[in-house]
Amino acid sequence: MSLPVYRNYINGRWLHGSTVGLDENPSELDAPVGEYVRGSAADANEAIEAAAAAQPVWADCGVQRRADLLDAVGSELLARKQELGLLLAREEGKTLPEAVGEVARAGQIFKFFAGEALRVPGESLASVRPGIEVEIRREPVGVVGLITPWNFPMAIPAWKIAPALAYGNTVVFKPAELVPGCAWALADILHRAGVPAGVFNMVMGSGRQVGQAIVGHALVDAVSFTGSTAVGRQIRETAGGRGARVQLEMGGKNPLIVLNDADLDVAVNAAVNGAFFSTGQRCTASSRLIVEEGIRDRFVQAVRLRLAALKVGNAVGQGVEMGPVVDERQLQTDLDYIRAGVDEGAELLFGGDLLPLTPRGHYLQPTLFAGAPSMRIAREEIFGPVAVVMPAASFEHALQLANDTEFGLCAGICTQSLKYASQFKRQSAAGMVMVNLPTAGVDYHVPFGGRKASSAGPREQGRYAAEFYTSVKTAYTAA
Ligand code: NAD
Repeated sequence: MSLPVYRNYINGRWLHGSTVGLDENPSELDAPVGEYVRGSAADANEAIEAAAAAQPVWADCGVQRRADLLDAVGSELLARKQELGLLLAREEGKTLPEAVGEVARAGQIFKFFAGEALRVPGESLASVRPGIEVEIRREPVGVVGLITPWNFPMAIPAWKIAPALAYGNTVVFKPAELVPGCAWALADILHRAGVPAGVFNMVMGSGRQVGQAIVGHALVDAVSFTGSTAVGRQIRETAGGRGARVQLEMGGKNPLIVLNDADLDVAVNAAVNGAFFSTGQRCTASSRLIVEEGIRDRFVQAVRLRLAALKVGNAVGQGVEMGPVVDERQLQTDLDYIRAGVDEGAELLFGGDLLPLTPRGHYLQPTLFAGAPSMRIAREEIFGPVAVVMPAASFEHALQLANDTEFGLCAGICTQSLKYASQFKRQSAAGMVMVNLPTAGVDYHVPFGGRKASSAGPREQGRYAAEFYTSVKTAYTAA
């Protein structure tokens, strides 16, 4: 039976692209999710021109209209979270409860920005010159290009699309190649919620064709990108080089410190959740477990027991705690890093092998190493279910190891000491810090983002999103 072909959404119409791609199901390679068109640079250009033409009208349509649209999108996402969660779990491979939670999160984000659309910030100050009033206004930036990764196929598009539209910008959205299903579902919801033609456009396709066309186009005023550090840097050069505003959320190699005084259950839960849930495919995953020597043996023993009991399987299976790796390429990357860890002399504490489950999927065991800070598995982002335990002699040593990385997205500590928790919050070189919590798992109404090679530009999410999606104007009026 042939599958329906899902199309791009450009200028209010559903259009064919240049080719068609198969959306794979990493849990069941013989049961693909669907067929989705892949656009070209020409499709991206058409979408950009439509967005540029629609932008002045959208900027002037009134905040109530924008709020109502975003609220309607949020309501539909929340109402359909089970069904769309199933789609997300099938195409990305995270477990069904995680996927349903992500769709609900996307709904909450749209509702949050429905409210923010009514609260576009501004200020009025007294002038230093008599008889003059000064206003600080926030206006739309214009056309924004949104380029997203595959690992949060609903939540990341939501936290870019919703603020972009709330503040009066128009959008050209390019989802990751591996997850067109969620992107198409979002576009369908926006379309049926009544988004005017050209205000929101979705062009599926490759980074090389569609992505680069967006990044390089003179009519795109701002680019918000989430993905790998290497691609982010290219985007900064191209888009930044032509004067566009750029926001980058990139890779991570997040540490979780476990001190001798930690509650062992809290630490083990934080480590297993942070390192292995969502198959370790989270930018905030804790792949470096820095453990003080006095608790190390008990911690390692407890994590190994927990991993031995961890149910790995089909993302939509009952009770499954870890789904498959997203695709063949990422699986190969994970296996290459596991081999590199062994070759560099790391001790394999758990896992390291493929899991030959049926039906056929990209299944890998959760993998735990004991290693040294200089090893590649301890320095480079793997983006899979692979973590390294490293010993620390003291809190100060642990903190130094935690900060010794090119990345700075998130960092965590498990301790019962208020002194060390406070010191860690002050001295961690990451953009987000967690105490007695997994490094992954954040709120949607507060800023999200990192430091160093993990992020560039203003923060995403919460009210801080206005920094990127609005342009400040200072107006002087003689009274
Ligand atoms: P990726 O960089 O390969 O791709 C991200 C997006 O960029 C995709 O849509 C891709 O098609 C597009 N792209 C690729 N090349 C491009 C180019 N030359 N020009 C324009 N667009 C291009 O990343 P991925 O494999 O999809 O996602 C995994 C990465 O994302 C990891 O490094 C992870 O840490 C990161 N990530 C970061 C955050 C964060 O908030 N910091 C969140 C999730 C994922």
